[in-house]
Amino acid sequence: MDKNDTLRITLGDWQWNAALIGFINIVGKDHVHLSKNTVEFSADLLEDFEEKYFGYLIGTYEKTLSWHKIVSMMDRLEAYENSGFENFNSEALKSLNTYIKDVKRYLKSNSYKAAYELVASEMDMLSLEKQLTLLKEPKNQQQFESDRLKTIADLRPALAVLKQIIAYCARSEGKRYIGAKNIIYTVINNAWNGVSFLNPQTKIKDVYADYKAYFVDEAIDYIQQDKRKYKYQCFICDAPIKDMSNDLSFLNATGFDVARKSSHVWDFQNDIAICPLCKLVYSCLPAGMAYVYDRGIYVNANINIEDAFNINYVIKQRILGNQEGSPRSIYPALVGALHRQEHQVSQYDFADIQVVRYENGAYRFNIVSRKILEIIMESREDLDRLIKAAFIENGMNVRVHDEVITRIFNNQNLFTLIHRMLYHKLSSPGNCYFHGGHLTSLLKINQQIYMRLGGMKVENEKENRKRNAAIIWAARKAGEGLRTRYKVKDAHHKLPGICYRLLNALKTSNKDMFMDVALNCYLYVKNPVPEVLTSALSNDKDFSTMGYAFVAALIDEATGERENTAPQDEQEVLA
Ligand SMILES: [Zn+2]
Repeated sequence: MDKNDTLRITLGDWQWNAALIGFINIVGKDHVHLSKNTVEFSADLLEDFEEKYFGYLIGTYEKTLSWHKIVSMMDRLEAYENSGFENFNSEALKSLNTYIKDVKRYLKSNSYKAAYELVASEMDMLSLEKQLTLLKEPKNQQQFESDRLKTIADLRPALAVLKQIIAYCARSEGKRYIGAKNIIYTVINNAWNGVSFLNPQTKIKDVYADYKAYFVDEAIDYIQQDKRKYKYQCFICDAPIKDMSNDLSFLNATGFDVARKSSHVWDFQNDIAICPLCKLVYSCLPAGMAYVYDRGIYVNANINIEDAFNINYVIKQRILGNQEGSPRSIYPALVGALHRQEHQVSQYDFADIQVVRYENGAYRFNIVSRKILEIIMESREDLDRLIKAAFIENGMNVRVHDEVITRIFNNQNLFTLIHRMLYHKLSSPGNCYFHGGHLTSLLKINQQIYMRLGGMKVENEKENRKRNAAIIWAARKAGEGLRTRYKVKDAHHKLPGICYRLLNALKTSNKDMFMDVALNCYLYVKNPVPEVLTSALSNDKDFSTMGYAFVAALIDEATGERENTAPQDEQEVLA
């Protein structure tokens, strides 16, 4: 075989497929031929592969990189100067200081220091970093105005330093090496580790040259070798290989690590070796998954390679392609892509697809069946309403939309989630970024889950949905009415205690306890018990739906409606 030959690669398990999609992304879909479950390409596509590799990843994730944070400030700095700092105010000063803090942190990090060695420039970035100091922030706008001239005078030298830093980063070599370092420690290391430029002991400083030597040159050499006398076989493609030197242990979370744990693994696992070409393809895994910082997703649609490419392309577009530059959450992107997929394949039989997520250093798998897809499609509007809903639990930002999708994937109903949310709303309303409308959406989605997964008769779908909506509506009305009456009696301080008791009753499905508490409330305000409370008792699900809708409305919304301004829990980790 020689360099001009056609190479053919076939789909396999999810990780191989994701890597193969990554390979196609890197070389460009126009340069390969896709048919059914194989991809064909000319071997000369492997020339300069290291450039294509980093080029694709830097281009795709550009707006998420700290490199981009540094250089994207140039326009604003120039606008300040050109306008003679006309619109420069205390807010602008604050945000400039935040920027300076970030820039100083980036410039001192080890990965930036390593990049400076590769950029041919006399500029001493570490000394520029030292020259860059935070600007003094006046206490208030008044003081800002009186100190204005001095502040601006202090600003000019800082801007001069910043502009030198930005110019250094923005030049093509700056982007090439700093961008590559950013990509290695925010994207690539999610997929693999320990070899080539991610081997702490590597002798090659230039990450492009390192990748080329370890992955690309080996693959090209291998293609050109006469393999007739090789005794072993590649675990992936069955091609003959000379020895067992390449294995899968450089891939994260594959379950075994031949080099480090050889005494603990079964003998047969040491038999897993791959050819250099398959190793090169596996190194493309980070280009196949779609990452939001340290979380990733890949949809393994095994229908054919074209579909697999398209659905993952859409997900990546939706996650990374928004205007603001900050990547979106993974699940709304997935829901959008599944919706599109649904339209495209509706005329064919829908095959179950596998959703692979990378979270907390491990892969998690879900099968999206026809029924699960139906729930997601039928609940699309309610799901969209939940995108900004969140609450903080144990210091963590919990996204309601993602929690709902996880439960749908795991065939679980939403009552425990609703319970947690209401409990937090009572105990720490300041940590809750959702309102009653969000809970109504949850109860409606929950109905879909019961209908599709709980074996309810689908013939009665419309009727069921109507009945459920009526229960939610009536229970909310009842809750709001009771709350108003407590307020009139100036007794609304009693409501949190009542809500806790009602939630306890709901948690244990204790209808008697629930009715006891409710009856006492209505006795207290001298009002008859609304019919919805008693009529929902005949059925466990109706009881929970009614109960949670009732409690949701009963909880005082004194804090007003708040959208999610919860702190973002995702930040680039600097190496
Ligand atoms: Zn192979």
